[in-house]
Amino acid sequence: METPANCAVLNTNESLKLSITNHLRFTLGAYVESASENDWFVATSLAVRDRVMERATQSRTKHRSQGVRRVHYLSLEYLMGRLLENNLRNSGLYDIAKQALKDMGKDLDTLLQKEPDMGLGNGGLGRLAACFMDSLSTLDLPAIGYGIHYEFGLFRQEFVNGRQVEHPDAWMRDGSPWKIARPSYRQTVHLYGKVIQKFDEFGHPHHEWVETKCLLGLPWDIPIVGYDSSTVNVLRLWQAQADEDFNFQVFNEGSYVDALREKAIAETVSKVLYPNDATESGKELRLVQQYFFVACSLADIVRRFKNGYNLPWSEFPSKAAIQLNDTHPAVAIPELMRILVDVERIDWAQAWAICQKTFSYTNHTLLPEALETWSTALFERVLPRHLQIIFEINHRFLTGEVEARWPGDMEKKRVLSLIEERGGGKHVRMAHLSVLGGHATNGVAALHTRLLCERLFPEFFELYPDRFLNLTNGVTFRRWLDVCNPQLSALITESIGSGWLKDSSKLRELDRFADDSSFRERFQQIKRGHKVHLAKIIQDTCGVSVSPDALFDVQIKRLHEYKRQHLNLLHIVSLYRRLLENPQLDIAPRVFIFGAKAAPGYYLAKNIIHAINALANKVNHDPRVGGKLKVIFMPNYGVSIAERIIPAADLSEQISTAGKEASGTGNMKLALNGALTIGTLDGANVEILEEVGPDNIFIFGLTVEGVTDLYKRGYNPWDFYWASEDLRLSLDWLASDYFTGNQDEFKPLRDSLLTHGDPFLVMADYDAYAASQAEVDKAYRDQPRWQKMAIHNTARVGKFSSDRTILEYAEKVWKLPQVSM
Ligand SMILES: *Cc1c(COP(=O)(O)O)cnc(C)c1O
Repeated sequence: METPANCAVLNTNESLKLSITNHLRFTLGAYVESASENDWFVATSLAVRDRVMERATQSRTKHRSQGVRRVHYLSLEYLMGRLLENNLRNSGLYDIAKQALKDMGKDLDTLLQKEPDMGLGNGGLGRLAACFMDSLSTLDLPAIGYGIHYEFGLFRQEFVNGRQVEHPDAWMRDGSPWKIARPSYRQTVHLYGKVIQKFDEFGHPHHEWVETKCLLGLPWDIPIVGYDSSTVNVLRLWQAQADEDFNFQVFNEGSYVDALREKAIAETVSKVLYPNDATESGKELRLVQQYFFVACSLADIVRRFKNGYNLPWSEFPSKAAIQLNDTHPAVAIPELMRILVDVERIDWAQAWAICQKTFSYTNHTLLPEALETWSTALFERVLPRHLQIIFEINHRFLTGEVEARWPGDMEKKRVLSLIEERGGGKHVRMAHLSVLGGHATNGVAALHTRLLCERLFPEFFELYPDRFLNLTNGVTFRRWLDVCNPQLSALITESIGSGWLKDSSKLRELDRFADDSSFRERFQQIKRGHKVHLAKIIQDTCGVSVSPDALFDVQIKRLHEYKRQHLNLLHIVSLYRRLLENPQLDIAPRVFIFGAKAAPGYYLAKNIIHAINALANKVNHDPRVGGKLKVIFMPNYGVSIAERIIPAADLSEQISTAGKEASGTGNMKLALNGALTIGTLDGANVEILEEVGPDNIFIFGLTVEGVTDLYKRGYNPWDFYWASEDLRLSLDWLASDYFTGNQDEFKPLRDSLLTHGDPFLVMADYDAYAASQAEVDKAYRDQPRWQKMAIHNTARVGKFSSDRTILEYAEKVWKLPQVSM
C-alpha cells in the first residue's frame, strides 16, 4: 500500500517533529514549552505508534485476504519490558527520532527512561513469549499473541533491612501509549452455573450450561514491531469487566452498593498477575483467570473463522494453530470441545479431531511442584460443563487407545489418566490434558525434551512417539544485543555487516576476530564502558562503590532453590573467610551481582535473599578485604535492569541442579554479550557448551546421570559437610549470629541443606563449584585469553536466536507461511 505524499506520518525528521508536537498539543493538551518529560515520552511514543499502526492494519488485511493460517500464541504471561527504544530500533527510526528531539531541545535517551516496564510475567516463560512475538513479526509470520491485561504486573521489590518487601506494580496508572482498546471485539464469558441435558425434536441429546454468572472481556491491542520487516502483529490482552446487564437487576432492586461490589469483584479477575514461579498456586481466582482468558481468546478466534471464511468446521485447523505456553491455558482444549459439540452441534469424534489438529503444547518444567492440577470439586463449581467434557475425553482415551494398547492393564490406566486420585481427592492433570488434546508436545532444550520423554511422560511417549519434539529456546538478538548493547552491535556490524541481526548464523564470521588484538581491545573497551555505567547505577541504587576493573560475576534470575543462589552464596562466604585469614590472598577482585525476586510465599527463597544481603552488608563495609570483594543485590530485577546488567557481565552463573532447569534463557543473553558461563550440564547449558566449545566455558558438577546414581547410593548431605572443611566452616559461619546478630536468622537455610536432606544437592556440588571458580579466577587474570574466550562466546551462540526457534515452530508444528507485505 502506498503512503500519500502529503501524509503527515513520514519517517523524516520534519514529519516526526510535527507528529510529536501535535500529540503534545492536541492529544495531551500541553504547551510545548512547558510539557513534562513524561509528556514528551508519551508524545514521542504516540508519534512512533502512528507510524506502526498503519502497518498493523495492512498486515491484518493481508493475512485475512490471503486466508493464511495464523498462529495464536496463548500465554498467561508476557514480560515485555519497555517498548519505545525497541520499536525505534526495530523500525529504523532511532537516529531520526534522536535528532528530531535534539532539535527540540530534548534528549531521547532521557525520555526512554521515563517508560515503566510492562512486567506482565514472572520470569523466563513470560520473557520467552515476548521474544517470540518479536521474532514472529520479524520473520513475517501471521500471528496473534493473546494474554491478560493485568492491572498490576509482577510486584515491585524493595529491601528493608535486607529482607524482600513487595509493593504493587501500577505499571499503567498513567495509561500506556502503546495499547489501544478494541471495544467492538468485547466478549462475554460464562462461569459457575449448572449443566442440563436437553433433547431436540429427533430425540438427540445435547448439553446446556445455564444459570451462569457473566463477565465481559475488553481487548487491548499492542502493536509488535519486527526488525526490518513490514509485518506488525498484535498482542491482544483481555481486561475483565462487569456485565452491565447483570448489575442492572441488582440496581433495580435498589441495592446500588451491592451492584458496585459485584462490579468490583468481576474486575478482580484481571487485577493481578500471580507472582508464583515454578510452583502451582491452586486458587479459585487463578482458575477463573485462566478460563476468562481462554474463553475470550477462543471466542475471538472462532469469530474470525466464522466471519472471514465460509468454510466447514473441518477446515478450522487449516486457518488456526493454537500454541499453549505451558498448561496455564490448557482449559482451551475442553472449551473448544464445548464450542464445537454443545454450540455448533458437531459430533464428538469430529470435534476431537479438530481439537487435536489445532492445539500444540510447550512444556516448561519437570519439577513436580510446578505441574498444574485442579481439584475436580473446584473445577466442577467453576466450570461444570468443562469437567464433564474432561471426564468424557478421559473415558474415551482409557477405554479406547489405552485399553487397545495395554489390554486389562489397570496400572497403565492409572498413570495415564487425566484424573489423579490422591489423598481422597481427585485432581485434573493439566499436563496430561495438554499432551492428549494436541498434535505436538515440545520441550525447550535437548536435555529437557529427553527427560520429558523418558521420565515425565514415558507412557504417552510410548503411545505417541511422533507427538514429541524438541524446540530449543532462544532470545531476540534485537532487544538482547542491538537495543541493550548498541556499542557492541555497531562493532559487529562494522566487522561483518548487519546481516547477523536477521540471520544469526552469520555471527560466526566474528570468530576470526578473536585473534585480532585491536578488535579484542575494542571489544574489551565496550565491556568496560558498560561496567562503568553499571558501577554508577550500583552507586546510585545501593550506595556501594565498585571498581569496573573487577570481575563482574552475575547471577540474575528468579530466586529458587533449584537455581541454587545459595551455592553461589556459600562460595562467597568462603572467599570472604579466606581473605580475612590471608589478606594477601592472590585473587582477581570480584563484584558478585545478584538480581532476583522470590515468590511472596516462598519462605526459604526469602531467607536466601536476606542471607545474601546480610553478607553484602558485612563484606562491602569491611576494610580488611581491601576492595577485592563486593556483593551487590540489585533490587527489583526485571527486563530493564537486565538490559543494564547483561552487557556489563564478565561471568554468567548458570548453576542449577542437573535435570531441574528446563532451558534457561538468561544463559543465552549473557553469552551473547560476551560473558563466560560457569554452569552445570543442565538445560540449554549443554547446547551452549556444544556451540562455544569446552575451552570457552566453565562446566562443573553432577550430571543428570550422576544425580541419579548419587540417589541410588543414598544421598546424605552430612557426608559432604564433614568431608569439606571449607564448606563446613562457610555454612556454620553463615548460620551463626555473626551476620545479623541473631543465630536463628538463617537456620531455615542451614536446616534445608543438612537436616532436610538438601533436595537440590548444594552440598554435593560445592567442592566442584569452588574448584571451577578457581579456574575462572586464573582465566580472568590472563586478559588476552579471557577476551578471546568472550569473543568466541558472542560469535558462536547464533543458534540461540528466537528467530531460529520460531522458524522451527513454524515449520514443524504450525506449518505457517511467511507472508511479506
Ligand atoms: C531472561 C529473563 C529471565 C530468565 O532467566 P533465567 O536465567 O533463564 O531463569 C527472567 N527474568 C528476566 C527479566 C529475564 O529477562
